[in-house]
Amino acid sequence: MNFVSLKAYALEKKVPIITDEVFDFLKLFISQNQIKDVLEIGTAIGYSALAMASFGCHVTTFERDEFMIDEAKKHFDLFEEGERVTLIPFDALTYEKNLGMFDLIFIDAAKSQYETFFNKYKPYLKQGGYIVCDNLHFHHLDPSKVNRHTQALLKKLEKFKVFLKEHTEFETTFYDFGDGVSVSKRIML
Ligand code: SAH
Ligand code: MG
Repeated sequence: MNFVSLKAYALEKKVPIITDEVFDFLKLFISQNQIKDVLEIGTAIGYSALAMASFGCHVTTFERDEFMIDEAKKHFDLFEEGERVTLIPFDALTYEKNLGMFDLIFIDAAKSQYETFFNKYKPYLKQGGYIVCDNLHFHHLDPSKVNRHTQALLKKLEKFKVFLKEHTEFETTFYDFGDGVSVSKRIML
């Protein structure tokens, strides 16, 4: 098993993994900023966690879905990089145990909860650390052509972008590559 076959597997199972652009971005970002410890929210089958582990990080990653937990465990066993991944098979919204401190928090779980994840996990970010969020464009859906539920979700994502822009503790840059990525740097106090 390698990254190419894991990506093909995700495609076959219709699991939305990071795009190649986000993969390449994370690789560069992790090396340029000497990122060592990553907290990921949303493991799915383990693709992005294994990617970041292959870039030299230790990755602690949350997954709440039983099927995904089994898939991720399987892949963490199959890949050598799995040794540098700690899976937390719990809902990140309700998990209460201490986690240690991280250089990077990568948010890629339920899109309606990004602000909640951000607020809940920022205490685990080191000074000068980063929070990166994936899928801020949410496939560029047209709000007038989707159902109410998706409309509400798109609204929440827009609200989250404003929250990031106005945040006084973070400086955020928005990128259009992949499905839209934000990089928020905690301002040094
Ligand atoms: N980061 C992965 C893709 C994650 S897909 C990659 O790029 O390879 C999003 C995943 O987040 C789904 O598997 C979903 O079950 C999980 N998820 C959503 N909300 C969650 C929560 N509150 N806690 C833990 N996992 C969550
Ligand atoms: Mg994603």
